[in-house]
Amino acid sequence: MNASFRAIPSVDAVLRSSSGQAVVERFGRAEATARIRTLLDRERAAAQQGSALRDAEGVGALTLTELETSSTSSLRPVFNLTGTVLHTNLGRALLAEAAIEATVEAMRGAVGLEFDLDTGKRGERDDHLRALVCELTGAEDATLVNNNAAAVLLTLNTLAGHGGGAVVSRGELIEIGGAFRMPDIMTRAGARLMEVGTTNRTHEKDYKAALDEEGISLILKVHTSNYRIEGFTREVAAPALARMAGAAGVPLVNDLGSGTLADLTRWGLRREPSVREAVSEGADVVTFSGDKLLGGPQAGFIVGRKDLIAAINRNPMKRALRLDKMRLAALEATLKLYRDPDRLAERLPTLRLLSRKQDDIEAMAARLLADVSAAAGSGYRVEVAACASQIGSGALPLDTLPSSGLSFRPADGSGGALERLAAALRGLPVPVIGRISDGALVLDLRCLEDPQAFAANLDGLGRGLA
Ligand SMILES: *Cc1c(COP(=O)(O)O)cnc(C)c1O
Repeated sequence: MNASFRAIPSVDAVLRSSSGQAVVERFGRAEATARIRTLLDRERAAAQQGSALRDAEGVGALTLTELETSSTSSLRPVFNLTGTVLHTNLGRALLAEAAIEATVEAMRGAVGLEFDLDTGKRGERDDHLRALVCELTGAEDATLVNNNAAAVLLTLNTLAGHGGGAVVSRGELIEIGGAFRMPDIMTRAGARLMEVGTTNRTHEKDYKAALDEEGISLILKVHTSNYRIEGFTREVAAPALARMAGAAGVPLVNDLGSGTLADLTRWGLRREPSVREAVSEGADVVTFSGDKLLGGPQAGFIVGRKDLIAAINRNPMKRALRLDKMRLAALEATLKLYRDPDRLAERLPTLRLLSRKQDDIEAMAARLLADVSAAAGSGYRVEVAACASQIGSGALPLDTLPSSGLSFRPADGSGGALERLAAALRGLPVPVIGRISDGALVLDLRCLEDPQAFAANLDGLGRGLA
């Protein structure tokens, strides 16, 4: 036993070995030393069991492998082949090149974030985008925050934060992905929720009755982004709500959710209420997201009446919810693309992906079929298959886009084989995320823009499945 303990190399010996030096080179002396110590403790435990021991070179090599594995970030690029273009769990919108360049510039150096370059005096960070947002939405004024949830929270807190009544239809008390439930946000904002109507039908008289009560601060209209009520339904349209709000002397707030700045029908997509429409229909404040259909970074827009936006900007919570220089730079570059609708679909990835034609996607699938089939091996039957993509993030929830992809079925028909395949795809150098449905794993190729990189990445799939 003593003899085997003596065979364990010292920390210094490992650090001097060529693999040990490679560890120091990559990860620095402190991390290398700490990790080698841990590994040598394991070697001592192994020695007690009488196991064979590594020499200094072997310990160094194992340290390197382990550090490399544990240092790969879990926040790394993946192939989103789920068929959901704006996938919240995969980071929603991909940024346009112009936005990426602007962000990198802003990260690298100082910028005139709150500094007026004309006068040399202090400026406002939102000033950089205010005119542009007003130009694209027709609103009087605008302010920007961390995301649309923050936009709703800040707006309600400013306009109804002291227990003011916020009148909202029961059919619009939505939950958007677990943590964002409209009633909870309203309570947290300090507003008093005044539900009117029923789940499927809300009439003008319901709003009128609520507006007759004491202490009403606003009417809230919420775009029921992620579900649709069909059949025996009724809702009060925004223009009528605006008239009632005006008569009662309270603002109408319209949470559009996704909102869009362009007419999507131009690219063959279904109509989605645009921000400009919501503003022109008489909403006093409109809120919407930066990283849904708009195609920019995570952000929340609050646009509308000048006096209300000024009050929102004076709320101390604004300071806690504001945007940083990187996202302001990315947003400005993204918004500028909207000035040229003819080239928008080419430049804005969200729109480019949403407007891709099924034929083109199918042709790409056909070109990849042989390589993908070979990579998957004899355990799976791979075919080109029609599928349906979704927009995601609650935009146009019931609409699907005809698409095409590669479907994998286990040759022996077993269910476990699909889970193994999904795991092997996730284990690739660039993880590939598909979806399992009807006994097949489907990779929807709508969001694949670099098929060469995708094919090269599949080289290790056979090893992952072995
Ligand atoms: C998505 C959505 C939100 C939340 O927006 P985030 O930008 O994700 O914070 C709020 N309201 C509606 C109606 C939405 O669709």
